[in-house]
Amino acid sequence: MLLYIPLKKLNTNRERVLGDLENLYYLSESILHIEVNDQMLIVDTLNHREVKKQIKRYFTQPSTNPTLKQKVLEDNTMHIPSYHSSFVHSSTGAILTGDSSFLEEAFDRLICQIAKKHHVVFKHYPSFLSNKSMHVSGYAKCFPQRLYRLSEIPHEFDILTQYRKLSQSHQDTNHLFKTTDHFLQPCICYHVYEELASQSNPELLQLYSAKGRCYRHEHPHRLSPTRLQEFTMREIVFVGSDKDVKNVRMQLLSDVWDLFEDLGLRGYLTTSNDPFFLHENQDKKFYQIADNTKYEIIFSPNEDIHVSIASGNHCGTMLCDAFQLNKESPSLFSGCVAFGLDRWVQAFLYHYGSDKKGWPSLIRNLIV
Ligand SMILES: [Zn+2]
Repeated sequence: MLLYIPLKKLNTNRERVLGDLENLYYLSESILHIEVNDQMLIVDTLNHREVKKQIKRYFTQPSTNPTLKQKVLEDNTMHIPSYHSSFVHSSTGAILTGDSSFLEEAFDRLICQIAKKHHVVFKHYPSFLSNKSMHVSGYAKCFPQRLYRLSEIPHEFDILTQYRKLSQSHQDTNHLFKTTDHFLQPCICYHVYEELASQSNPELLQLYSAKGRCYRHEHPHRLSPTRLQEFTMREIVFVGSDKDVKNVRMQLLSDVWDLFEDLGLRGYLTTSNDPFFLHENQDKKFYQIADNTKYEIIFSPNEDIHVSIASGNHCGTMLCDAFQLNKESPSLFSGCVAFGLDRWVQAFLYHYGSDKKGWPSLIRNLIV
């Protein structure tokens, strides 16, 4: 059932609605789809009254999306003609077969080679993060819409017996589950800060890298082959002086851009900003673009597709302060370069297809 709200009534315009589109989807679970034209906001929902109220309230607050010009540092879209192909589709994420199933490892290898050149310490971490780290990092507060928290059945004889009985007769057992302290990790780098917090840290530059499955509760409408609820990410995290952090981020991004070009992919390297849900994050978002705190490498085979496959973040002293790394050395800064490995696979298959014969030797040589 479509709900029509004139933009005039909301005191807004199409541009702002488009900028805030992601936030609007998180106003109510009953929102299925949102469209906007020059005059109207059109929402597909079964709950007209509640959604209308939520949307009206939303637009009484200032926009979270300041329109600032992005700065493009590298761009090969002028040299490579645009083209159309297709991503690998599936409702829960890409299911890959044969040679394609080795692509994630192949890209990880290439990224690890770059990391190795910069003398990183490689790490391996579990997929769970504690409630404490989720809050200390600020993630839980900034992105409540993306959280996945685990629940479990207490190890108590009576409750376990009850669970067995109820499930045998196919009855509801939800009430027997208890929320735990564990969250599924939304990113990898917090593990590094957790670890560094328990040791004394010199002001010298330190680099770490780890890979893992990450989990984010996305709106069903926003899910796509390049936006999944579960995905693999490699991160390179660096801690040191402001100057070192800025330098190493640019060196890494420049190496990754070279890899992107060696693979023959079409796109650009640009400054960027993350969409934040809460309005109090407005300043933070502005700060992100103004200070070039975030860069992204965007795969863009044509005008309609712009997929970020790597991002370089400068976190200032924010995360070092939050995890109390700055107790002894008060001037530690940090940053990270993150790679969505599933997106590299999707970009590559979009460009080259699944037949290994057509793949560049750089990748072919890494396939089992
Ligand atoms: Zn990170």
